Amino acid sequence: MSARRFKIQANNQVTHCPKCSNNTVFTAFSDQVAEDGCEVWVACKCSYDPTLSNTLHRYESVMGGVDDDNVHMALSCWNDAIADEVSQCQN
Ligand SMILES: [Zn+2]
Repeated sequence: MSARRFKIQANNQVTHCPKCSNNTVFTAFSDQVAEDGCEVWVACKCSYDPTLSNTLHRYESVMGGVDDDNVHMALSCWNDAIADEVSQCQN
């Protein structure tokens, strides 16, 4: 498994962490889950990971890795995963 800590500029695109309100400092992870497939996801600096219980929200990549393109996709998945968590709480 590879991991990379990164910081992005202040923005309105990335959903704020429900635990600590951070939306700029994350750690990206890439893990091989099949012979020809990897999952890429991000966790907050406080270690909150909305995909932990719902790995469907992890970005599937053949090559995996935590390069900028994959990190960008993983942040999009982060948004979706938190949106899902919020709607589950309301149900
Ligand atoms: Zn957090």
